[in-house]
Amino acid sequence: METSIFTVMSQMALEYKAINLSQGFPNFKSDPVLVDLVTKAMNEGYNQYAPMAGDMGLREAIASKIERTASKRYNPNTEITVTAGATQAIFTAIAATIKKGDEVILFTPAYDCYQPTIELFGGVAVPIQLQAPNYAPNWDEVAERITLSTKMIIINSPHNPSGMLFSESDMLQLENLVDKHNLLVISDEVYEHIIFDGAQHQSAAMFPKLASKTFITASFGKTFHNTGWKVGYCVAPEPLMKAFQNVHQFNVFSVNHPVQKALATYLQNPENYLGLSRFYQEKRDFFLDLLKKSRFSILPSQGTYFQLLDFSAISSEGDIAFAERLTKTLKVATIPTSVFNANKEDFKQIRVCFAKTNETLEEAAAILNKL
Ligand code: PMP
Ligand code: GLN
Repeated sequence: METSIFTVMSQMALEYKAINLSQGFPNFKSDPVLVDLVTKAMNEGYNQYAPMAGDMGLREAIASKIERTASKRYNPNTEITVTAGATQAIFTAIAATIKKGDEVILFTPAYDCYQPTIELFGGVAVPIQLQAPNYAPNWDEVAERITLSTKMIIINSPHNPSGMLFSESDMLQLENLVDKHNLLVISDEVYEHIIFDGAQHQSAAMFPKLASKTFITASFGKTFHNTGWKVGYCVAPEPLMKAFQNVHQFNVFSVNHPVQKALATYLQNPENYLGLSRFYQEKRDFFLDLLKKSRFSILPSQGTYFQLLDFSAISSEGDIAFAERLTKTLKVATIPTSVFNANKEDFKQIRVCFAKTNETLEEAAAILNKL
C-alpha cells in the first residue's frame, strides 16, 4: 500500500515551510469549555478503560442527537459503538462483513481508506467514477455494476473531496437498490454538520429500509475541531452492530475514556454543533471571495470544509506535479485529487481545506492569486 496522501502532503508542508491547506484539520482551537471537560474527567479519575462499546452517557447523547436530527432512535445498549475516529469505524465495519471475493461498490474520487481496507480482507473494490463539476452519482450505472458478488456499497455525503451532497432522491434510489439486492451499506457521514446554503443532510438513518442495512460512521474531530482526539462512532441495527463489536473488542477494545466523558456532556447541547454549517459557510465564502480574481476555476462545494480548484487555465502539469510545485516553490500545500481516483490519470483539480483562520486563508489566497 502507498503512504497516505495526507501524510505525504503534511510532511512536505512542514519540510518546505508551506501554508498547510492539504490534510483536513482546523488550525484554530477546540472550544475551551470542551477542553476543560476533558481535564475535569481526568481529575475525577476517568483514566482507566471505558466500557467496550463506549461510555454509556456518550452513547445516550449520540442516540438523542440522531433522534433530534434524523428522527430515528438507535438503542444505546445494542446499536452504538464509540470508536477511535471514523477511520476505525470504517475499518471495523469492513472487517466484520467483507470476505474474500465480496465486491464493494464505492464512488470515486473516494476517501483514501476505503479501498485498501476492502482489499485487506480479500474484497474487491468496484469504483464508479463521479464526474466534475457536480460529482452526482448515476444510479443506472450503479444498478448495472451490481453482481451476485456485490455485498456492500460505501457512500460518503457530504463528499470528500468534492463537497457534493446526496439528495433525498439519491438516498431513495440507493435504498431501492439495497433493498432489491439485499446489500449492506457504510454511510460515511463525518461531515454531517457542515452543510451549506440551507441544504439538509440526508442521513441514511432517515430512510428506514436503508437504515436497516447500514453502518453509519461519524467523527467528533470534524464537528468539534479536534481531529487529533480521534473519537468517533458507528451506529447500526443490532445484528450488524453485534458483528461490528465482535471485531471492535479485539481491534481496539475501547477508546479514550476522559474524552468520551467530556463529549457525553458537551454533545447534549445542540448549540455546540448546530452553528457549524454557518461557521464554515462563512469561511468558504470568505476564501472564495479572496480567490475571485484568481485564474482557478472554482467548483461547487455544498458541504465539508473542502473546496476543489480547477487549475487547467494555469498549468498543463498533472495534479501531483502541480501540487508539489505549489508546496515547494510557492509555499501552499494542497491535495492532488488523482489520488482519490481508481484510474490514476491526471486530474486538473486540487483540494484545499478552508478550516483555517482568516489570516491563514488571506495569506494562502494572496499566493494562489499570483498564479
Ligand atoms: N471519512 C472521511 C470522508 C474523512 O474525510 C475522514 C477524515 N477526515 C474520515 C473518514 C476519518 O475520520 P477520523 O479522523 O475521525 O478517523
Ligand atoms: N480526512 C482528512 C482529509 O481528508 C485526513 C485524515 C487523515 O490524515 N487520515 O484531509
